[in-house]
Amino acid sequence: MALGSDLHPVLYTPRIPVAKPHLPKTQAIVPYLRTLDRTRRYSNLGPVSQQLHRRLADILALETGGVALTASGTTALIGAILARAGRARAQRLALCPSYTFVATISAAQSCGYEPYLMDVDADTWTLDPSKVAAHPRLEEIGMVMVTAPYGRLPDLQLWSAFSRDTGLPVIIDAAASFDVLTRTGCAYEPDIPIALSFHATKAFGCGEGGAILCSDPEILVRAVRATNHGFLGTRQVIGDNINGKMSEYHACVAMAALDAWPARQTQYDQVTANYAEASQDHGVIGTLSVGGAFSNAYALYHATSPEAAMLLREKLLERKIDSRFWYGFGLHAESGFGPFEQDSLTVTDRLARSVLGLPFYCDLKARDVSEICTVLAAAEKLNLAAASRNGAPHRV
Ligand SMILES: *Cc1c(COP(=O)(O)O)cnc(C)c1O
Repeated sequence: MALGSDLHPVLYTPRIPVAKPHLPKTQAIVPYLRTLDRTRRYSNLGPVSQQLHRRLADILALETGGVALTASGTTALIGAILARAGRARAQRLALCPSYTFVATISAAQSCGYEPYLMDVDADTWTLDPSKVAAHPRLEEIGMVMVTAPYGRLPDLQLWSAFSRDTGLPVIIDAAASFDVLTRTGCAYEPDIPIALSFHATKAFGCGEGGAILCSDPEILVRAVRATNHGFLGTRQVIGDNINGKMSEYHACVAMAALDAWPARQTQYDQVTANYAEASQDHGVIGTLSVGGAFSNAYALYHATSPEAAMLLREKLLERKIDSRFWYGFGLHAESGFGPFEQDSLTVTDRLARSVLGLPFYCDLKARDVSEICTVLAAAEKLNLAAASRNGAPHRV
């Protein structure tokens, strides 16, 4: 089977979509909007934003430093880069995984870096600090961007040690990690800023929005300033900057979303439990990653091969159930973007085509999860039969 992009059709009217964002209802946002009528502050780190960043710092257990609120996950990444690494200078390369969402490397480009794509580790699905430390082009590298794939956090202590040993700034693209952080907590490292996205499709969203988390108060101040025209407290411009801050309107939606967060997490836990039960009932034998270290924006099926993943996708499509290769086939495979310098990307090539995103959202019904797992188990049987016909060894 050829694995061209034509085999990734978009299902316009799925019966079961792959994602179905659910943001706060109007009436839940209104009380916060009334603050704006009173204060007539609509942006510029106004009172709702201030309340929100304190509330988030509390929930995310940031005891020092705190949270800089941004207009999107992408501007959070740019703010984190400007605050920690600055614009590209002599060392122009930004080492990035190819297995990530496009914004990781667009943010690096926006700060003047040239992305250099490196392969990911087969287990963590992101860059391996020991391999980066031994990279032959290390002298030309100015910064390392590490993605938390599907919200799963990399080992921050290892990256902090890497950063100290090499002198290279490290930025974590943890765009999808908000819910993971609230569930599992995090040992923040002061020199490693973390960018989050509150885009509607993430587990916690406010439409468009994001945040930079940093336990070092000085880097945090630089991040707030870098996303506010270089201003903080005075009209004096300090440092490279953009307008990347969150508006008071989006802060209102985020406040209402936080009010509903405990109930939302309970819904996600229920869907997660439904997946565990249904996959067992229907005899799914492959690797299904739902919840835990992964964000509740995803349910991931790790097929034994790209062909097996594609067959599953087709079987789901036949029933109008959507699925998605969330990071495409890796950014190096995007025909309209790049090309970028790269290492050999054999792990990425296989992983990107084998990990298929299945439907996951807060009110996904138990009977829909059951149907998805029926298709999953049937596709596994077909794949096993095909593998034994081809004489390939079974891999379970
Ligand atoms: C969602 C996402 C982004 C982009 O966030 P926006 O808020 O859409 O700008 C960046 N990186 C990763 C890994 C993401 O999942």
